[in-house]
Amino acid sequence: MAQRRKSWCWNYFLLENDSKLKCKSCDFLLSYKHKNTSGMIKHLKSIHNISVGPSTRDVNSLLQGSQKANIDNLLLEMIYKGFHPLSIVEDKTFQHFVMALNPNYNFSLEA
Ligand SMILES: [Zn+2]
Repeated sequence: MAQRRKSWCWNYFLLENDSKLKCKSCDFLLSYKHKNTSGMIKHLKSIHNISVGPSTRDVNSLLQGSQKANIDNLLLEMIYKGFHPLSIVEDKTFQHFVMALNPNYNFSLEA
């Protein structure tokens, strides 16, 4: 099997040896005999209440339709309720901030 990009759960585990993983949060040793991430995900979910699902990159590539509309709405709400000028979306530093959160977001607000 080719090396694919690492799963998000690798942020929470270290490879202790060939067949053991160590949870960075609680030092729990997890079997890694099957070389898959389901045990890691299960541990994170049941012990640490962490579940992220697909990697950020996957989520970004799915950013469209209702998700985009949802972000637009939140942005407009921030602008109106916070009395920010609509031109804040053209502010480079603000755009850098948003791009850091989601590189695929575009600023064509349909206000
Ligand atoms: Zn743990």
